[in-house]
Amino acid sequence: MSRPGPRILSVKTAYNLSPHMRRVVFTADELDDFPEHHESANFKLLLPPPGQHLNIDALAAGDATNRPIVRTYTLRHYHRLEREVVVDFLLHQPAGPASSWAATAKPGDVVGFAGPGKPKWIDTSADWFLFAGDMSALPAIAANLEQLPKHAKGYTVLEVISEEDKVPLQKPSGIELTWVINPNPQQPTDALISTVQQQPWLGGNAAAWVAGESGAIKKIRRYLKDSGIDKRRLYASGYWQIGMTEDVHQVEKRKDAEAES
Ligand SMILES: Cc1cc2nc3c(=O)[nH]c(=O)nc-3n(C[C@H](O)[C@H](O)[C@H](O)COP(=O)(O)OP(=O)(O)OC[C@H]3O[C@@H](n4cnc5c(N)ncnc54)[C@H](O)[C@@H]3O)c2cc1C
Repeated sequence: MSRPGPRILSVKTAYNLSPHMRRVVFTADELDDFPEHHESANFKLLLPPPGQHLNIDALAAGDATNRPIVRTYTLRHYHRLEREVVVDFLLHQPAGPASSWAATAKPGDVVGFAGPGKPKWIDTSADWFLFAGDMSALPAIAANLEQLPKHAKGYTVLEVISEEDKVPLQKPSGIELTWVINPNPQQPTDALISTVQQQPWLGGNAAAWVAGESGAIKKIRRYLKDSGIDKRRLYASGYWQIGMTEDVHQVEKRKDAEAES
């Protein structure tokens, strides 16, 4: 099946969930073919270059002059009846084009939306679950926690920028939640990995879902492999990298993947 071309979405409303997380609710007249149950999937957000109008045709045409800026985000919710697509944006510093755009997003602003891809669901047939990530992965982890079976057990470790960024999460009571506060994500730290290592390793088959800053995620992936996790039940992905814009980070990720294969 061919992938649908990018859609144009407009902002319906935008508000802060916490000091560093801004929710943008998009809408469009025509969303009937938007797939359901794809929360946690990522998509490409297409933004106009500074001072220009959005021209999504410039992407396909290979027109470099007003090519949209492309960034990767997670589908947090899709409400079919209300024709709403919901995305949570981390407001990070230094900001980039996408976080700056989200910080001032207002009703009527338009973006391009290419995707969503396949949902990134954890394997719910596992005996227990481990989630870890920073605020870039919070939308996908929250979506995953919402669809776990009621009896699920395990651990979630979330790194956030401030106490006020600890948001309520809907999760089974058997999933223990630990918050790590890191006010400066631009400094490399082992806070997330060391908190993950402090969680007991339970018996039976584990499934793990980890995403966030690339350097931290590489260490957590190594720890999980050393702990004997079955790689078919492991999702580990660098969502951004200290000191790199997404364009540069994606190039580095491809090089890493080639080196590993
Ligand atoms: C599969 C996938 C799903 C993602 N889903 C989400 C999502 O739902 N919500 C979300 O907020 N992000 C998400 N991200 C992360 C997002 O794509 C990056 O944070 C992206 O770099 C933001 O673009 P930007 O234009 O704001 O910053 P860029 O121009 O890419 O970068 C500018 C500067 O900001 C720094 N930076 C980038 N990201 C962060 C960060 N998270 N924390 C601190 N500093 C940062 C960079 O190192 C760089 O110095 C996802 C990434 C992937 C790969």
